[in-house]
Amino acid sequence: MDRSDSAPKVLVTGGAGYIGSHAVLELLGAGYPVVVLDNLSNASPESLVRVAQLAGKPAPLVVGDIRDATLLRELLAREKVSAVLHFAGLKAVGESVEQPLAYYENNVGGTTTLLTCLAEAGVRRLVFSSSATVYGDPSEVPVPVDAPLAPSNPYGRTKVMIEEILGDLARSDPRWSIAILRYFNPVGAHPSGRIGEDPRGIPNNLMPYVSQVAVGRRAELAVFGGDYATTDGTGVRDYIHVLDLARGHVAALARVLEHAGAFTVNLGTGRGHSVLEIVRAFEAASGRSIPYRIVDRRPGDIAQCYADPRSAADLLGWEAALDLESMCVDAWRWQSRNPQGYSGT
Ligand code: NAD
Ligand code: UDP
Repeated sequence: MDRSDSAPKVLVTGGAGYIGSHAVLELLGAGYPVVVLDNLSNASPESLVRVAQLAGKPAPLVVGDIRDATLLRELLAREKVSAVLHFAGLKAVGESVEQPLAYYENNVGGTTTLLTCLAEAGVRRLVFSSSATVYGDPSEVPVPVDAPLAPSNPYGRTKVMIEEILGDLARSDPRWSIAILRYFNPVGAHPSGRIGEDPRGIPNNLMPYVSQVAVGRRAELAVFGGDYATTDGTGVRDYIHVLDLARGHVAALARVLEHAGAFTVNLGTGRGHSVLEIVRAFEAASGRSIPYRIVDRRPGDIAQCYADPRSAADLLGWEAALDLESMCVDAWRWQSRNPQGYSGT
Protein backbone atom coordinates (compact mmCIF):
# COMPACT_ATOMS: atom_id res chain seq x y z
CA MET A 1 0.00 0.00 0.00
CA ASP A 2 1.37 3.46 -0.84
CA ARG A 3 0.15 6.40 1.20
CA SER A 4 2.88 8.90 0.17
CA ASP A 5 0.68 11.93 -0.49
CA SER A 6 -1.53 11.82 2.54
CA ALA A 7 0.29 9.54 4.94
CA PRO A 8 1.29 10.71 8.39
CA LYS A 9 4.98 11.43 8.85
CA VAL A 10 6.79 9.22 11.37
CA LEU A 11 9.70 10.24 13.59
CA VAL A 12 12.02 7.25 14.06
CA THR A 13 14.40 7.63 16.99
CA GLY A 14 17.41 5.33 16.70
CA GLY A 15 16.45 4.75 13.06
CA ALA A 16 20.04 4.44 11.84
CA GLY A 17 20.55 1.35 14.03
CA TYR A 18 20.01 -2.31 13.27
CA ILE A 19 16.28 -2.75 13.82
CA GLY A 20 15.42 0.91 13.19
CA SER A 21 16.97 0.93 9.70
CA HIS A 22 14.92 -2.12 8.68
CA ALA A 23 11.78 -0.52 10.13
CA VAL A 24 12.47 2.71 8.19
CA LEU A 25 12.69 0.71 4.97
CA GLU A 26 9.41 -1.05 5.77
CA LEU A 27 7.72 2.28 6.63
CA LEU A 28 8.87 3.84 3.36
CA GLY A 29 7.64 0.77 1.49
CA ALA A 30 4.24 1.18 3.16
CA GLY A 31 4.15 4.82 2.06
CA TYR A 32 4.90 6.61 5.35
CA PRO A 33 7.36 9.50 5.05
CA VAL A 34 9.95 9.45 7.83
CA VAL A 35 12.49 11.56 9.64
CA VAL A 36 15.16 9.79 11.68
CA LEU A 37 16.75 11.15 14.86
CA ASP A 38 19.91 9.28 15.85
CA ASN A 39 23.03 10.36 17.73
CA LEU A 40 25.09 7.71 15.85
CA SER A 41 26.49 6.40 19.15
CA ASN A 42 25.99 2.88 17.81
CA ALA A 43 25.26 3.29 14.10
CA SER A 44 26.60 4.50 10.79
CA PRO A 45 24.76 7.04 8.62
CA GLU A 46 25.55 4.72 5.69
CA SER A 47 22.64 2.49 6.80
CA LEU A 48 20.15 5.21 5.87
CA VAL A 49 21.93 6.05 2.62
CA ARG A 50 21.33 2.44 1.64
CA VAL A 51 17.75 2.43 2.95
CA ALA A 52 16.98 5.43 0.74
CA GLN A 53 18.54 3.67 -2.27
CA LEU A 54 16.55 0.49 -1.61
CA ALA A 55 13.29 2.39 -1.10
CA GLY A 56 13.84 4.91 -3.88
CA LYS A 57 12.63 7.53 -1.37
CA PRO A 58 14.38 9.88 1.06
CA ALA A 59 15.30 8.65 4.55
CA PRO A 60 16.41 11.95 6.11
CA LEU A 61 18.63 11.80 9.19
CA VAL A 62 18.91 14.42 11.91
CA VAL A 63 22.06 13.68 13.89
CA GLY A 64 21.11 14.45 17.47
CA ASP A 65 20.15 13.12 20.86
CA ILE A 66 16.77 12.31 22.38
CA ARG A 67 18.07 13.95 25.58
CA ASP A 68 18.37 17.31 23.78
CA ALA A 69 15.02 19.03 24.41
CA THR A 70 15.95 22.13 22.41
CA LEU A 71 16.74 20.07 19.33
CA LEU A 72 13.58 17.98 19.77
CA ARG A 73 11.37 21.08 20.03
CA GLU A 74 12.89 22.53 16.87
CA LEU A 75 12.57 19.23 15.02
CA LEU A 76 8.93 18.75 16.05
CA ALA A 77 8.04 22.34 15.14
CA ARG A 78 9.63 21.90 11.71
CA GLU A 79 8.64 18.35 10.73
CA LYS A 80 4.96 18.02 11.73
CA VAL A 81 5.18 14.35 12.62
CA SER A 82 2.09 12.36 13.59
CA ALA A 83 3.68 9.39 15.35
CA VAL A 84 6.96 8.09 16.70
CA LEU A 85 8.76 4.75 16.54
CA HIS A 86 11.12 4.96 19.51
CA PHE A 87 14.16 2.67 19.06
CA ALA A 88 16.87 4.95 20.49
CA GLY A 89 18.62 3.45 23.47
CA LEU A 90 21.65 1.61 24.75
CA LYS A 91 21.24 -2.16 24.68
CA ALA A 92 24.30 -4.06 25.96
CA VAL A 93 23.44 -6.05 29.08
CA GLY A 94 27.03 -6.37 30.39
CA GLU A 95 27.78 -2.69 29.84
CA SER A 96 24.58 -1.80 31.71
CA VAL A 97 25.87 -3.68 34.76
CA GLU A 98 29.15 -1.73 34.64
CA GLN A 99 27.62 1.66 33.79
CA PRO A 100 24.07 1.67 35.20
CA LEU A 101 23.79 5.45 35.37
CA ALA A 102 24.63 5.80 31.68
CA TYR A 103 21.77 3.38 30.93
CA TYR A 104 19.22 5.05 33.22
CA GLU A 105 20.20 8.47 31.93
CA ASN A 106 20.17 7.56 28.24
CA ASN A 107 17.24 5.16 28.12
CA VAL A 108 14.91 6.40 30.88
CA GLY A 109 16.00 10.06 30.96
CA GLY A 110 16.09 10.23 27.16
CA THR A 111 12.59 8.76 26.94
CA THR A 112 11.08 11.20 29.48
CA THR A 113 12.65 14.13 27.60
CA LEU A 114 11.29 12.79 24.32
CA LEU A 115 7.80 12.24 25.81
CA THR A 116 7.75 15.73 27.34
CA CYS A 117 8.58 17.33 23.99
CA LEU A 118 6.07 15.11 22.17
CA ALA A 119 3.31 16.10 24.62
CA GLU A 120 4.16 19.79 24.13
CA ALA A 121 3.95 19.33 20.37
CA GLY A 122 0.68 17.38 20.61
CA VAL A 123 2.21 14.18 19.20
CA ARG A 124 0.74 11.36 21.30
CA ARG A 125 1.18 8.23 19.19
CA LEU A 126 4.19 6.11 19.98
CA VAL A 127 5.56 2.62 19.37
CA PHE A 128 8.21 1.60 21.90
CA SER A 129 10.97 -1.02 21.58
CA SER A 130 10.81 -3.15 24.70
CA SER A 131 12.43 -6.54 25.17
CA ALA A 132 11.83 -10.08 26.38
CA THR A 133 14.52 -9.28 28.93
CA VAL A 134 11.73 -7.67 31.03
CA TYR A 135 10.65 -11.23 31.96
CA GLY A 136 14.03 -12.22 33.41
CA ASP A 137 14.11 -15.99 33.91
CA PRO A 138 10.52 -16.83 32.92
CA SER A 139 8.61 -19.28 35.08
CA GLU A 140 6.78 -20.70 32.06
CA VAL A 141 7.46 -21.04 28.32
CA PRO A 142 6.07 -20.00 25.93
CA VAL A 143 6.06 -16.70 27.86
CA PRO A 144 2.61 -15.09 27.94
CA VAL A 145 2.49 -11.30 27.69
CA ASP A 146 1.02 -11.09 31.21
CA ALA A 147 3.88 -13.09 32.78
CA PRO A 148 5.51 -11.43 35.82
CA LEU A 149 8.24 -8.89 35.07
CA ALA A 150 11.56 -9.67 36.75
CA PRO A 151 14.47 -8.09 34.87
CA SER A 152 17.85 -9.19 36.14
CA ASN A 153 20.07 -6.32 34.96
CA PRO A 154 19.99 -2.51 34.64
CA TYR A 155 19.27 -2.65 30.87
CA GLY A 156 16.16 -4.75 31.49
CA ARG A 157 15.13 -2.48 34.35
CA THR A 158 15.28 0.56 32.03
CA LYS A 159 12.79 -1.24 29.76
CA VAL A 160 10.42 -2.01 32.67
CA MET A 161 10.67 1.57 33.95
CA ILE A 162 9.89 3.00 30.52
CA GLU A 163 6.95 0.60 30.15
CA GLU A 164 5.60 1.85 33.49
CA ILE A 165 6.09 5.49 32.51
CA LEU A 166 4.21 4.85 29.26
CA GLY A 167 1.38 3.14 31.16
CA ASP A 168 1.13 6.09 33.58
CA LEU A 169 1.08 8.52 30.68
CA ALA A 170 -1.70 6.68 28.86
CA ARG A 171 -3.74 6.59 32.10
CA SER A 172 -3.16 10.31 32.69
CA ASP A 173 -4.42 11.46 29.31
CA PRO A 174 -6.70 9.37 27.08
CA ARG A 175 -5.35 11.05 23.96
CA TRP A 176 -2.14 9.00 24.15
CA SER A 177 -1.92 5.94 21.98
CA ILE A 178 1.02 3.68 22.79
CA ALA A 179 2.24 0.29 21.62
CA ILE A 180 4.81 -1.56 23.73
CA LEU A 181 6.54 -4.26 21.65
CA ARG A 182 8.58 -6.84 23.55
CA TYR A 183 11.02 -8.29 21.03
CA PHE A 184 12.52 -11.71 21.53
CA ASN A 185 15.85 -12.26 19.67
CA PRO A 186 16.03 -10.20 16.46
CA VAL A 187 18.40 -11.64 13.83
CA GLY A 188 18.88 -11.70 10.06
CA ALA A 189 19.06 -8.87 7.59
CA HIS A 190 17.28 -7.39 4.59
CA PRO A 191 17.42 -9.94 1.73
CA SER A 192 19.20 -7.38 -0.50
CA GLY A 193 22.33 -7.87 1.63
CA ARG A 194 22.67 -4.06 1.76
CA ILE A 195 21.63 -3.41 5.39
CA GLY A 196 22.15 -5.57 8.45
CA GLU A 197 23.52 -5.79 11.98
CA ASP A 198 26.91 -4.13 12.43
CA PRO A 199 27.95 -4.37 16.08
CA ARG A 200 30.90 -2.33 17.27
CA GLY A 201 33.72 -4.40 18.79
CA ILE A 202 33.22 -8.00 19.85
CA PRO A 203 29.59 -9.00 19.35
CA ASN A 204 27.66 -9.79 22.55
CA ASN A 205 24.91 -11.62 20.71
CA LEU A 206 25.01 -15.08 19.22
CA MET A 207 24.04 -14.53 15.57
CA PRO A 208 26.51 -11.70 14.77
CA TYR A 209 29.24 -13.67 16.53
CA VAL A 210 28.48 -16.78 14.48
CA SER A 211 28.42 -14.66 11.29
CA GLN A 212 31.83 -13.21 12.08
CA VAL A 213 33.26 -16.68 12.68
CA ALA A 214 31.83 -17.84 9.34
CA VAL A 215 33.36 -14.89 7.49
CA GLY A 216 36.75 -15.43 9.14
CA ARG A 217 36.82 -12.38 11.43
CA ARG A 218 36.84 -14.58 14.57
CA ALA A 219 38.42 -17.98 15.12
CA GLU A 220 35.70 -19.87 16.99
CA LEU A 221 32.44 -19.50 18.83
CA ALA A 222 32.40 -19.90 22.61
CA VAL A 223 29.14 -21.67 23.45
CA PHE A 224 28.13 -20.42 26.88
CA GLY A 225 27.08 -23.57 28.76
CA GLY A 226 26.36 -27.12 27.63
CA ASP A 227 24.57 -28.27 30.77
CA TYR A 228 21.23 -26.46 30.67
CA ALA A 229 18.03 -28.47 31.01
CA THR A 230 17.31 -28.16 27.27
CA THR A 231 17.26 -30.67 24.41
CA ASP A 232 21.03 -30.50 23.78
CA GLY A 233 22.20 -28.67 26.93
CA THR A 234 22.69 -25.28 25.21
CA GLY A 235 20.52 -22.20 25.70
CA VAL A 236 17.23 -21.89 23.81
CA ARG A 237 15.87 -18.59 22.46
CA ASP A 238 13.14 -17.34 20.14
CA TYR A 239 15.01 -15.93 17.12
CA ILE A 240 12.89 -13.62 14.97
CA HIS A 241 13.76 -12.30 11.51
CA VAL A 242 14.29 -8.52 11.58
CA LEU A 243 11.96 -8.21 8.57
CA ASP A 244 9.13 -9.80 10.53
CA LEU A 245 9.92 -7.40 13.35
CA ALA A 246 9.84 -4.44 10.95
CA ARG A 247 6.43 -5.58 9.68
CA GLY A 248 5.27 -5.80 13.29
CA HIS A 249 6.13 -2.12 13.73
CA VAL A 250 4.12 -1.06 10.71
CA ALA A 251 1.17 -3.08 12.04
CA ALA A 252 1.58 -1.49 15.49
CA LEU A 253 1.79 1.96 13.91
CA ALA A 254 -1.42 1.38 12.00
CA ARG A 255 -3.11 0.47 15.28
CA VAL A 256 -1.83 3.45 17.27
CA LEU A 257 -2.95 5.76 14.46
CA GLU A 258 -6.49 4.38 14.81
CA HIS A 259 -6.97 3.56 18.51
CA ALA A 260 -6.20 5.42 21.74
CA GLY A 261 -4.85 3.72 24.88
CA ALA A 262 -1.81 1.54 25.57
CA PHE A 263 -1.21 -2.10 24.71
CA THR A 264 1.67 -4.55 25.02
CA VAL A 265 2.54 -7.51 22.80
CA ASN A 266 5.31 -10.08 22.45
CA LEU A 267 7.02 -10.14 19.05
CA GLY A 268 8.48 -13.61 18.64
CA THR A 269 7.88 -16.70 16.56
CA GLY A 270 6.75 -18.89 19.45
CA ARG A 271 9.53 -21.39 18.61
CA GLY A 272 12.77 -21.93 20.49
CA HIS A 273 16.13 -22.91 18.96
CA SER A 274 19.26 -24.01 20.81
CA VAL A 275 22.72 -22.52 20.25
CA LEU A 276 23.83 -25.70 18.47
CA GLU A 277 20.78 -25.60 16.19
CA ILE A 278 21.79 -22.06 15.22
CA VAL A 279 25.34 -23.21 14.51
CA ARG A 280 24.10 -26.03 12.27
CA ALA A 281 21.59 -23.81 10.45
CA PHE A 282 24.25 -21.18 9.84
CA GLU A 283 26.70 -23.77 8.53
CA ALA A 284 24.04 -24.97 6.08
CA ALA A 285 23.21 -21.41 4.98
CA SER A 286 26.80 -20.27 4.53
CA GLY A 287 28.54 -23.45 3.43
CA ARG A 288 31.22 -22.59 6.01
CA SER A 289 32.10 -24.57 9.09
CA ILE A 290 31.66 -22.81 12.44
CA PRO A 291 34.26 -24.11 14.90
CA TYR A 292 32.93 -23.90 18.47
CA ARG A 293 33.92 -24.81 22.00
CA ILE A 294 31.58 -25.29 24.93
CA VAL A 295 32.69 -23.11 27.84
CA ASP A 296 31.18 -22.07 31.19
CA ARG A 297 27.75 -20.54 31.33
CA ARG A 298 27.62 -16.75 30.89
CA PRO A 299 26.63 -15.13 34.21
CA GLY A 300 23.00 -14.02 34.19
CA ASP A 301 21.99 -16.24 31.23
CA ILE A 302 18.81 -18.29 31.38
CA ALA A 303 18.12 -21.78 30.01
CA GLN A 304 15.25 -21.00 27.70
CA CYS A 305 12.93 -18.24 26.61
CA TYR A 306 10.41 -18.19 23.79
CA ALA A 307 7.29 -16.17 23.18
CA ASP A 308 3.62 -16.74 23.31
CA PRO A 309 2.92 -14.29 20.46
CA ARG A 310 -0.89 -14.64 20.48
CA SER A 311 -1.50 -11.07 21.72
CA ALA A 312 0.24 -9.74 18.58
CA ALA A 313 -1.95 -11.94 16.37
CA ASP A 314 -5.11 -10.81 18.21
CA LEU A 315 -4.34 -7.07 18.34
CA LEU A 316 -2.24 -6.51 15.25
CA GLY A 317 -3.14 -9.40 12.95
CA TRP A 318 0.62 -10.04 12.90
CA GLU A 319 2.59 -13.23 13.07
CA ALA A 320 6.16 -14.10 12.16
CA ALA A 321 6.44 -15.60 8.70
CA LEU A 322 10.16 -16.24 8.16
CA ASP A 323 11.95 -19.35 9.39
CA LEU A 324 15.40 -20.03 10.79
CA GLU A 325 16.79 -20.86 7.35
CA SER A 326 15.79 -17.42 6.00
CA MET A 327 17.26 -15.76 9.07
CA CYS A 328 20.63 -17.45 8.50
CA VAL A 329 20.65 -17.08 4.70
CA ASP A 330 19.91 -13.34 4.97
CA ALA A 331 22.37 -12.78 7.82
CA TRP A 332 25.04 -14.54 5.76
CA ARG A 333 24.30 -12.53 2.60
CA TRP A 334 24.78 -9.30 4.61
CA GLN A 335 27.90 -10.54 6.39
CA SER A 336 29.60 -12.07 3.35
CA ARG A 337 28.99 -8.98 1.18
CA ASN A 338 29.96 -6.55 3.97
CA PRO A 339 32.63 -8.43 5.95
CA GLN A 340 33.58 -5.26 7.88
CA GLY A 341 29.99 -4.00 8.12
CA TYR A 342 29.36 -0.40 7.08
CA SER A 343 32.93 0.62 7.91
CA GLY A 344 34.14 -1.30 4.85
CA THR A 345 32.43 1.19 2.54
P1 NAD B 1 21.07 -0.32 17.81
O1 NAD B 1 22.11 0.07 18.81
O2 NAD B 1 21.52 -0.80 16.48
O3 NAD B 1 20.06 0.90 17.59
C1 NAD B 1 19.81 1.88 18.58
C2 NAD B 1 20.08 3.22 17.94
O4 NAD B 1 19.81 4.25 18.87
C3 NAD B 1 21.52 3.39 17.48
O5 NAD B 1 21.51 3.78 16.12
C4 NAD B 1 22.07 4.48 18.38
O6 NAD B 1 23.05 5.27 17.71
C5 NAD B 1 20.82 5.24 18.75
N1 NAD B 1 20.85 5.94 20.05
C6 NAD B 1 21.21 5.45 21.25
N2 NAD B 1 21.06 6.37 22.20
C7 NAD B 1 20.56 7.48 21.58
C8 NAD B 1 20.18 8.77 22.02
N3 NAD B 1 20.31 9.14 23.31
N4 NAD B 1 19.71 9.66 21.12
C9 NAD B 1 19.62 9.33 19.81
N5 NAD B 1 19.96 8.13 19.32
C10 NAD B 1 20.42 7.21 20.21
O7 NAD B 1 20.13 -1.38 18.51
P2 NAD B 1 18.93 -2.25 17.91
O8 NAD B 1 19.33 -3.67 18.04
O9 NAD B 1 18.50 -1.72 16.60
O10 NAD B 1 17.82 -1.95 19.00
C11 NAD B 1 16.82 -0.97 18.83
C12 NAD B 1 15.92 -0.95 20.06
O11 NAD B 1 15.39 -2.25 20.25
C13 NAD B 1 16.68 -0.61 21.35
O12 NAD B 1 15.82 0.19 22.16
C14 NAD B 1 16.90 -1.96 21.98
O13 NAD B 1 17.00 -1.87 23.39
C15 NAD B 1 15.65 -2.70 21.56
N6 NAD B 1 15.82 -4.17 21.55
C16 NAD B 1 16.83 -4.71 20.82
C17 NAD B 1 17.01 -6.10 20.85
C18 NAD B 1 18.13 -6.75 20.10
O14 NAD B 1 18.48 -7.89 20.42
N7 NAD B 1 18.74 -6.14 19.10
C19 NAD B 1 16.12 -6.91 21.58
C20 NAD B 1 15.07 -6.30 22.27
C21 NAD B 1 14.93 -4.92 22.26
N1 UDP C 1 25.60 -17.36 23.24
C1 UDP C 1 26.73 -18.14 23.11
N2 UDP C 1 27.89 -17.56 22.68
C2 UDP C 1 27.96 -16.24 22.33
C3 UDP C 1 26.79 -15.44 22.45
C4 UDP C 1 25.63 -16.05 22.91
O1 UDP C 1 26.70 -19.34 23.40
O2 UDP C 1 29.06 -15.77 21.96
C5 UDP C 1 24.34 -17.99 23.68
C6 UDP C 1 23.75 -17.42 24.96
O3 UDP C 1 24.28 -18.08 26.08
C7 UDP C 1 22.26 -17.67 24.75
C8 UDP C 1 22.08 -17.55 23.23
O4 UDP C 1 23.37 -17.75 22.67
O5 UDP C 1 21.92 -19.00 25.12
C9 UDP C 1 21.55 -16.19 22.78
O6 UDP C 1 22.39 -15.19 23.33
P1 UDP C 1 22.23 -13.66 22.94
O7 UDP C 1 23.22 -12.87 23.73
O8 UDP C 1 22.24 -13.52 21.47
O9 UDP C 1 20.73 -13.31 23.40
P2 UDP C 1 20.08 -13.26 24.88
O10 UDP C 1 20.92 -14.09 25.80
O11 UDP C 1 20.10 -11.83 25.25
O12 UDP C 1 18.73 -13.81 24.71
